[in-house]
Amino acid sequence: MGLLIVLSGPAGVGKGTVCTALRSKMPDIVYSVSATTRQPRQGEVDGVNYFFKTREQFKDMIARDALLEHAEYVGNYYGTPRDFVDRTLAGGQDVILEIEVQGALKVKDKFPEAIFIFLLPPSLDELKQRITGRGTESQDIINSRMNVAVEEMNLLRHYDYAVMNDEIDAACDKIRSIIIAEHCRRERIMSSMSEIKVATKKA
Ligand code: 5GP
Repeated sequence: MGLLIVLSGPAGVGKGTVCTALRSKMPDIVYSVSATTRQPRQGEVDGVNYFFKTREQFKDMIARDALLEHAEYVGNYYGTPRDFVDRTLAGGQDVILEIEVQGALKVKDKFPEAIFIFLLPPSLDELKQRITGRGTESQDIINSRMNVAVEEMNLLRHYDYAVMNDEIDAACDKIRSIIIAEHCRRERIMSSMSEIKVATKKA
């Protein structure tokens, strides 16, 4: 079995950027492409960045239990296709999900053995700058996004690891080290050894 790695954290912390950098440093990790009802941004490709769905198609995926988790975020649905994750893990490859915090907690219910990594902003001031710097939102919207981000920060206690995103390369190195260490956990090594023993007995 591969490892399921959940990379999450408050809006504006840079999950997408860190995940993209990590994928180029660890090409063996398989990235799970999410389904979403939001419109594609310029340059985004269906099936590569997201599976772009209508609300009806998305609701149908929920009804068929085709999603490992889903959440509503800023008026759109986002969800992780279940089948791809199950098949990839069963094939022995690690899978990474880059998702927001509500979805991450739902994954924890279904996959408690997954590795939960929370990406932290260097400071709340920095997070505010990142949220403000995104566009021309009014002060009200910025304040409400900051309130949501602070509530999201409170969910840190549910995670196994906290990585500060002060510098992308450093954050990637830490996440890479976490994944390597998790593969060396005694329980995992021993369970793969018992698989080896069973295989040698059969031979
Ligand atoms: P964006 O629209 O900027 O691509 O993503 C918005 C938010 O949705 C980000 O925080 C991203 O991590 C999150 N997200 C992307 N895919 C999924 C998913 O499958 N499930 C959940 N719960 N969140 C997702």
